[in-house]
Amino acid sequence: MDMKFGAKEEGLRQEVKRFLDEQLGKKDGPGQWGERGEEDFQKAVAFNQELGKRGWIAPAWPKEYGGLGASIYEQIVFNEEFGYRGAPDTGTRGFGVGMIGPTLIIHGSDEQKAKYLPKITSGEDIWCQGYSEPGSGSDLASLQTRAVRDGDEYVLNGQKIWTSGGHRANQMFTLVRTDPDAPKHRGISFLLIDDIKNTPGLTIRPLINMANRHHFNEVFFEDVRVPVANRIGEENRGWYVGMTLLDFERSGIGTTASQRRVLEDLSVILKGLDADKQRKNRLKLADLVIGNNVGKFLGYRIGHIQSTGGVPNHEASVVKIFQSELGQKIYNFGVNMVGLGGQFVPEEPRAILGGELPEQYLTTVPSTIYSGTNEIQRNIIATRGLGLPRG
Ligand SMILES: Cc1cc2nc3c(=O)[nH]c(=O)nc-3n(C[C@H](O)[C@H](O)[C@H](O)COP(=O)(O)OP(=O)(O)OC[C@H]3O[C@@H](n4cnc5c(N)ncnc54)[C@H](O)[C@@H]3O)c2cc1C
Repeated sequence: MDMKFGAKEEGLRQEVKRFLDEQLGKKDGPGQWGERGEEDFQKAVAFNQELGKRGWIAPAWPKEYGGLGASIYEQIVFNEEFGYRGAPDTGTRGFGVGMIGPTLIIHGSDEQKAKYLPKITSGEDIWCQGYSEPGSGSDLASLQTRAVRDGDEYVLNGQKIWTSGGHRANQMFTLVRTDPDAPKHRGISFLLIDDIKNTPGLTIRPLINMANRHHFNEVFFEDVRVPVANRIGEENRGWYVGMTLLDFERSGIGTTASQRRVLEDLSVILKGLDADKQRKNRLKLADLVIGNNVGKFLGYRIGHIQSTGGVPNHEASVVKIFQSELGQKIYNFGVNMVGLGGQFVPEEPRAILGGELPEQYLTTVPSTIYSGTNEIQRNIIATRGLGLPRG
């Protein structure tokens, strides 16, 4: 077994590093790890468009869909380097490439693939996910948003919540109830809503998170009309399309690289602290570095499954739990190690590491909730991974 990347991947890595230096500046501090306002958003749009020109938004997709036909291992190189440098995103790579794109490749019609995939790989379309509702999160199949067929259109009424980046997106993929009388999993359809900002009856309202950022939203549908041609898969069979998408959502690799970056930054800071602080913190930091290495290899396992044509399922749940819990430990450790100065937020000029520590301390809290809570992931490992009966 050879655990190293090959010469081709390492050559690509150098090319990606040079590109990131050009695009993001040769900065030693943390990358552009969080969008904080209009200016950051526009930078992320411009960055994605530069990637689009090179075919680098979805390198592992086939060339016919705007990718490069690259291997999964080359894709991992991109993800690692982007993660390490905190490369900005708009929802194009996360929701577009990471979720709806691969789902369309499996379940979409030829017309749907031709319509949507090129606008993902060019960076033009920004997607958001309309799954959760006020009463339906973990028990997603209980969702109530209603879609009633009217000729060539569905008429939608209901509400979605926690819609990340909904205020930035122009496109939404969503799950709606098309048969209220069927058993709950069998009455759901998967729809794409185009141009959400200009869709009559669709309202997006901000929700401010505990880091005081506008990250997610509530979305209301009042007689929103969606063409039947925008349905992916059969009517009332959308649950299975929606679950394929969740497998892709939980398979992302890149978090480990951004965690490695902050651990390296913390070790530089620790070397400058007094002997007592060094003694107190060095073994804890070493433990986190061990965790980071374990996370990296768990991520490579996902890459291996994908490279052999599989879609990771309970294996992705293992990664999701491990990386999200490790992230919380890293930032908790970071703010405590750095002390009072570690509490300066990004807007404060004296902020250490650009204010990344307190901001990420707060924003990693929900990482054990989104993409399906860690309790739900543990249930998946118990049932699908270990074959245990449902509790
Ligand atoms: C930062 C963030 C971003 C998000 N972005 C999006 C988005 O873009 N689009 C979207 O659609 N949704 C999004 N979500 C919503 C997310 O998917 C839900 O919050 C999540 O699925 C949990 O649902 P809930 O909040 O309704 O909690 P609940 O389902 O009410 O869960 C409450 C608690 O009960 C536990 N629990 C529930 N059922 C079980 C069970 N069977 N076994 C064991 N424990 C259980 C849960 O683990 C949790 O601790 C986001 C959430 C967050 C925090």
